[in-house]
Amino acid sequence: MKEEKDFLETLLVASTNIGSLLCDGIGDAILVQGEEAPGQGLRLSYNTLQAAGSRIFKTDYVACPSCGRTLFNLQTTTAKIKAATSHLKGVKIAIMGCIVNGPGEMADADFGYVGGAPGKVNLYVGKTPVKFNIPEAEAVERLQDLIREHGKWIEPAAAAAVMA
Ligand code: SF4
Repeated sequence: MKEEKDFLETLLVASTNIGSLLCDGIGDAILVQGEEAPGQGLRLSYNTLQAAGSRIFKTDYVACPSCGRTLFNLQTTTAKIKAATSHLKGVKIAIMGCIVNGPGEMADADFGYVGGAPGKVNLYVGKTPVKFNIPEAEAVERLQDLIREHGKWIEPAAAAAVMA
């Protein structure tokens, strides 16, 4: 438990200190030393680089913090979307709870999954809505179809072979 707490503290300090420099365009590579498990230091480095947009090695997700307007369970939906798309290196997916503020907060996401009405989801390509009122139960599959249509889909097995 203590190790986990130490790692989280290191993660926060390293990501704020190093990440702010990277976001200002200072530096292209980082080396984090001092972790008991070298793999954690490596993971921390990769994640900091990805969050700063310096090096992309996995799918990128942007999610709203959720509020009273959120139209679906943000945590379980995000987990479902991640399970379906986490092998898509470099694809950026926004998951937003509502259409009131969601589209404006999607930053530069390639695709958006946005609550359109209770139980209904709208899908976006960039900031453009392209599919409306999809029943929530099938929305993750429709998102996968949309990613396919735009040539950014890769089968999980193929992605694993590329990583190997
Ligand atoms: S995008 Fe909508 S649901 Fe999410 S925090 Fe903003 S207003 Fe709330």
